[in-house]
Formats: sequence, C-alpha cells, structure tokens
Amino acid sequence: MNSVIPIVSHTRSSSTQSGAAHLDIRQERGQREVFCGLTGIIWLHRKIQDAFFLVVGSRTCAHLVQSAAGVMIFAEPRFGTAIIDDRDLSGIADANDELDRVVNQLLKRRKDIKTLFLVGSCPSEVIKLDLSRAAQRLNIQFNPGVRVLNYSGSGIETTFTQGEDACLASIVESLPPPPSLQATGQKKRLLIVGTLADVVEDQMQRIFKDMGLTEVEFFPGRNSQSLPLIDENTVFLLAQPFLADTAKRIEAKGAQRLPAPFPLGSEGTSEWFKAAALSFNIEETILEKALFAPRQRAQTAISKHKVLLENRKIFFFPDSQLEIPLARFLSRELGMQLTEVGVPYIHRQHMAQELELLPAQTLIMEGQHVEQQLDRCEQAKPDLVVCGLGLANPLEAKGFTTKWSIELVFTPIQGFDQAGDLAELFSRPLFRKEKIAA
Ligand code: SF4
Repeated sequence: MNSVIPIVSHTRSSSTQSGAAHLDIRQERGQREVFCGLTGIIWLHRKIQDAFFLVVGSRTCAHLVQSAAGVMIFAEPRFGTAIIDDRDLSGIADANDELDRVVNQLLKRRKDIKTLFLVGSCPSEVIKLDLSRAAQRLNIQFNPGVRVLNYSGSGIETTFTQGEDACLASIVESLPPPPSLQATGQKKRLLIVGTLADVVEDQMQRIFKDMGLTEVEFFPGRNSQSLPLIDENTVFLLAQPFLADTAKRIEAKGAQRLPAPFPLGSEGTSEWFKAAALSFNIEETILEKALFAPRQRAQTAISKHKVLLENRKIFFFPDSQLEIPLARFLSRELGMQLTEVGVPYIHRQHMAQELELLPAQTLIMEGQHVEQQLDRCEQAKPDLVVCGLGLANPLEAKGFTTKWSIELVFTPIQGFDQAGDLAELFSRPLFRKEKIAA
C-alpha cells in the first residue's frame, strides 16, 4: 500500500476539455489511498498458467502479494518474492548476482515455467536495480525454453490495476515481428485485450462464433507461449478500462482499437459486441439473434437487484479505474443515483463512449485528495460507498455501507452471464445491512 504526500491541492472544472460537456468533470491532487500494481499478480498468475511472477522487492511486498493471493494448496505457487535485504541495500552483496542466483534456483526446480516475469517494486526502483538489463542477461541464459520479461508493479504514482497494464505492455513489446501480410492471408482478425476469467472468455467466444466471427483471439491467453499476432489486419476491443500503455503499444504495431463501452452489464456488453459486428460488417439480424438470449438472461438477473438498488445513492472513491463503466451500469440499468464518481485518471479516448452514457451533471473527480473527498462523502450521505480496503473499515465504523473496489477486479463481472453477479456485488452489502437492522 502507499500513500502520497500532497503536492498540489486544487479543484477545477474541466468539463469543456473532456468532450463530455454534459458532465461535471473536476480534478484534485493530494494524498491518495491506493494499492500498488503488485496486486495485479493475483489475477494474472491465475490466467497465465505457465508463467511465474518473481517480485524483486521487500518483505512488505511479499506480505502484500501473499496475503492478497492466499496460499495455493494443491499446486506449486506461480509467484514469489526475491527479497532485497540489508546486504543488497548496503552494497555488500551485488543485487544482480543475488537475483541471478535466485532465478537459477527457481528455474532449475520448476520446469513448468515458460515465462518468467521479473516484477519491479518500490525498493528495487529506489536502489535503481535495472530489471530490463537483468531480463536481457537472463534471456541469454534461458531463452528459448524460458522467456524472461520485466515490468514495474511499484506503488510509486500508480494504482493497483496498472500492474496488469504494465505486464501486458511488456508482452506486446517483446512480440516477434509478425510474418508478412502475404503469409497471414491479409485476413482481418479481432483481438480481445484484458485479463478475463476463463469462464467469461468461453462465453464470449461462443457469442462471437454465433455472430460468425471465428478469427478471435484473447490476450493474455491461458498459455504464455501462444502469443497474439498483431499487425495492420488486427482490430482490438478492450475488455478492461485500465490498459492505456498496452493499447498504445498494440496500436504502434498497426492495429486499430474499436471504440466501445466496456462489457459490463447488459447494455455495455451489447454495445461492445455491436462494435465488433460493425467492424466486420455483420448483419444486424445475425447480431441480434446471437445476443438475444444472453441479453434476456442478463436483464432478468439484473432486475432482481433493481428492487433494492433503485434510487439509492452511491459514492465512488478512486481506486480500480473501473469506476466510470460501473457508474454507467449502476445508473442506467439499476437506477442508482451517482453522488460522486472518483477516478484515478481519465483516458479521454478509451472512456469517450462511457462518458456519453452517464447522466447529465454527473460529478466526476479525477485524482484524489482523500481528506476533502471524505468530507464530501460525509456530506453526500450515500447509501453505498465503493472504496479501497484502507478506507472501508473507517467508513463502516462511521455507519457507511461499503463495497471493496478490489473485489470488482477479482470477481468475473464481464459479459451477459455475469451481469446479475455484478449487480449483486452492490446489492449484497445493502441487503446484509437491512437484515442486521431488522
Ligand atoms: S511495491 Fe511499494 S507499495 Fe507495493 S508493497 Fe512493495 S513497497 Fe509497498
């Protein structure tokens, strides 16, 4: 966890710059309460099943990952920490030699590892341990066989979902040049970008098939060796709203992003599939036929939670970067009132379709000054507060009902068949509170 000392504290309206003139978009800077990017290892290691994440950090980093990820009882862990200790910090030991020794030990014992991520942390950045050079050096020794990549999960100026962005960006950067366009048949392909639970990926793949789309790949895949082909014939849809660097690097390889809302809730998921259908000239009747039954299921599942959530006030503290798509879903499909939508930062292009769908005058606060935001939260008296773990307990003690934002990243929430579960994540705390009060 980290907390940044205030540098500037100001609030200014920037609705005219955002291109979403119907909204009240402001910015503030100050102390932030967020988790660091190491957290991403928890869902990344579950998805990429032949990869290992080696954090190069302190005991604090080890505790963070271990306590958040839990213990793998039936399988060998696919994450660990090479601890930077006093000997490394004082220069008695050469941190690079120590790292090579740990990696050699690990790879000798674990033949199942095909990709090793060296994950930087605050301590490794403070002692200026160059993990990109370490990865190059170790690749000479182990590749082919094991690919060694590196990225930063440091909490210095990052939010916890940026760990996934940095990880995926490092994979894109390491992709070999694509075969010539002649070799790939110049056929247009769709790439879905962002870590999705396997069950969600399978459901989406079935819908794409019903739409007649067979050239669809998911990135990251379950296997680190099946790398996506990215070139001018690739179009891509983002499945997660926090992948700015990854998207930039994919675009640099000639691929084109399809603008769409994110696949959260019935409406967002429909529009997301529609963006693919438009790009591949799929007839509306075929699209409608493919979406009809899953959309009906989603709407039925959502309606059960609307009874409890409609007209309730919700307040978002900035944390996961999922806040804007979630706010859109909760206001449009569940009738919740948005008192304030805090976001770590807004990617204006990736969020354009989402911002258009938000109700007029929605207050969006980009950045954070936690003290001021806590004051506004108290004034707004929301029925439900979405926030990080560090704020949840103090807010509960003051009588607020909270939802941990990190749960929204750990739980499969994308797509039609998860829309009811997503609504339930918000209705459950209110339901529990009403039960206790009864
Ligand atoms: S990377 Fe930084 S913020 Fe994250 S656990 Fe390690 S020391 Fe703490």
